[in-house]
Formats: sequence, structure tokens, C-alpha cells
Amino acid sequence: MKTLVIASIVFSTLLLTGCMEENKKEVNKNELEAIFPKGELGPAENFTGNAWNTPLVADDSTYNTVMGNVYFEPGARSNWHRHPSGQILIITEGVGYHQIKGQPRQTIKKGDVVKCPPNVEHWHGASPDTGMQQMYILPKTENGIVTWLQKVTDQEYNSSR
Ligand code: MN
Repeated sequence: MKTLVIASIVFSTLLLTGCMEENKKEVNKNELEAIFPKGELGPAENFTGNAWNTPLVADDSTYNTVMGNVYFEPGARSNWHRHPSGQILIITEGVGYHQIKGQPRQTIKKGDVVKCPPNVEHWHGASPDTGMQQMYILPKTENGIVTWLQKVTDQEYNSSR
């Protein structure tokens, strides 16, 4: 009888620990793995929702290139904007959207590399349910870096066309 009681306590403890492990996994699944610090919150006039920017390579006259990392919380996105010399995005975590004006919205995910040509109006951000982490590379900064335009409306964000 004593053995049975002990066995059942051990079994219950294992079961409980197992559940807790499951919960931990569940929590981790909803958090994106961070490579870089979370950074600074992007200004509300250029972003809808929370987008966190960490500069990685500052502009200088040797490289004329700016690099950094942005973490978009679920539902967050940039305004429409243009880069005078284009932009390359490397998606390092999560799921998001990228759209060039007049083209269907693209779903982008971890491992994708997205090129946006010079002076083309576009936006990028997270999907509604999963955040998105992206490294950005802005070349030839002697031509400028970004021109910010109007907000991406909820209708534009939710339409895949
Ligand atoms: Mn861009």
C-alpha cells in the first residue's frame, strides 16, 4: 500500500512536471527568439503598432550602408515609404508581410531574403498573429535613406491584393 501511495505521488509529480514543460513550450512558441537587443520603439508617425529598431551598422563614408534589426510585434507595420537606393530585408524570425504598391501582398517568413528596388513605394511588417524580425540593409546612402509616406490602412493591411 505504501509503495502504491509513493508510486502514485511520483506519477502525479511527473505528470505535473510534464504539464509545466508543455506550458513553458507554449509560452516560448509565442515569443520570438532574439538575436539582437530589442532596441528603441519606432516613432508612431512612421509605424502602426510597435516596431523596435536596433541599429547595427551606422552610416559612414567608407561603406555608405546602413544596417539594423527591427522586431515588429504582431499586427505592427511600417508606413508606406521609399528608399532612394532600394533595400534588402533578411527575415530572421516569425512571419510578416511585404508589399510593393500595385502588387499583391507577399507573406515573408524566417529565412526569406526580400529585395525592394530603388524608389519603389512599399511597406513591411508583422502578420496579425505572429511577430516578425527582419534585418535591413540600405545601400548607397549617399542617395538618402528613406522617404516616409502615408499610413498603411487596416483595409490595405488585411487585403492580400
Ligand atoms: Mn523598406
